[in-house]
Amino acid sequence: MIPAVFFGVLGLTIGSFLNVVIRRLPIGESLVWPGSHCPECGRKLGVLELVPVLGYIGLRGKCAGCGVRISPRYPVVEAATGAGFYWAAVNAAGPLDFVNSILLLSGLTAIFFIDLDHGIIPDVISLPLTAAGLALGAVMGAFPDRAIAAAGGFAVFWSIRFIGTLLAKEEAMGFGDVKLAAMIGAFLGIRMAATGLFLGFLIGGIMAVWLMAAKRRGAKDPIPFGPMMAAGGAIALIKGLAVLDLYAMCVARIWSL
Ligand SMILES: [Zn+2]
Repeated sequence: MIPAVFFGVLGLTIGSFLNVVIRRLPIGESLVWPGSHCPECGRKLGVLELVPVLGYIGLRGKCAGCGVRISPRYPVVEAATGAGFYWAAVNAAGPLDFVNSILLLSGLTAIFFIDLDHGIIPDVISLPLTAAGLALGAVMGAFPDRAIAAAGGFAVFWSIRFIGTLLAKEEAMGFGDVKLAAMIGAFLGIRMAATGLFLGFLIGGIMAVWLMAAKRRGAKDPIPFGPMMAAGGAIALIKGLAVLDLYAMCVARIWSL
């Protein structure tokens, strides 16, 4: 119990770092310098204000210098990362499995928001993490499964991108999404990566229909697919078996009609 809480707190601080990555990495700013400051007035955050989640609550969501509103996304990312680390500590089959889970969850969290904000998935996140996932798989005795999953994810998404671009006569899917499919495969192996990527399509389809129905987007407006894949990958990691059970139940129901 105590170690899990410790890792949860560690997750909160990693979440704080992920906020910096999400904000600065896509625009080419240093991740370490300068320290955290208000984007509006440049006021530097004090030690207490830097405490994850509690700092935001203490400031009541506003900069103490100029009063500009601070996005609630910051404490949300911190709390979600803390919860993810806690979950990983409680459920991991061992230290390597724990590292596997927190690397994937942290990477997917950063990718989720960077793709949402900028429509890109930085190679400096997806490529090293793909290598890390394969290396962990090798040490954990799951290398063939994960290598096939990474290569398969890459091949399937590359094909979707290729065929989609031919049919739509414009880029149908970013190459970053193709590399993200490989990354998810490298961490989850064939069965769970397939589950996660399928969930990504399901979430993407529902979102697309909902956005079009709400007239928020036309059929031609691009919707970043990376966030859906990231969400699908995270759900597969945490609840993949339950998703497969649910899927099997639905298939059985349909067959028995
Ligand atoms: Zn300010």
